[in-house]
Amino acid sequence: MKEQLKLVAKLQEVDRLLNRLGKALEELRSQGLSDDEIHSISLELEQIAEGKDEMKTRIRQDLLNYYQRFYKRHHDKAVAKLSGGVCLNCFVTVPSAKALRVRRAEEIEYCENCGSILIWDEEQDEEKKKDK
Ligand SMILES: [Zn+2]
Repeated sequence: MKEQLKLVAKLQEVDRLLNRLGKALEELRSQGLSDDEIHSISLELEQIAEGKDEMKTRIRQDLLNYYQRFYKRHHDKAVAKLSGGVCLNCFVTVPSAKALRVRRAEEIEYCENCGSILIWDEEQDEEKKKDK
């Protein structure tokens, strides 16, 4: 399950990137960028989109469905990190039993407040290690 959750978090990053690049391209177009340049950027966008499709085939269907539904409704906050017991999307503390389950990553866990898919923030473990 952990790998699955990592994949879906990655998918969200790609979606965000595509979104941003798409908007940037629109802007460049309105500023009169040459067709050649626009064409090469579009090709890159297509490549990213293809990589995304490949990624989607590796994600469990139920997880992917949830992600896609949620992403459409709330834009780019379908997957949220859980750090210090707090959902980094809505900043509400989740029950500690749930936090433990998120850490184990055996099942998909959702934030009860905002509905995001929760993933464990591994950076917080790194920081703890450094403190010692
Ligand atoms: Zn939340």
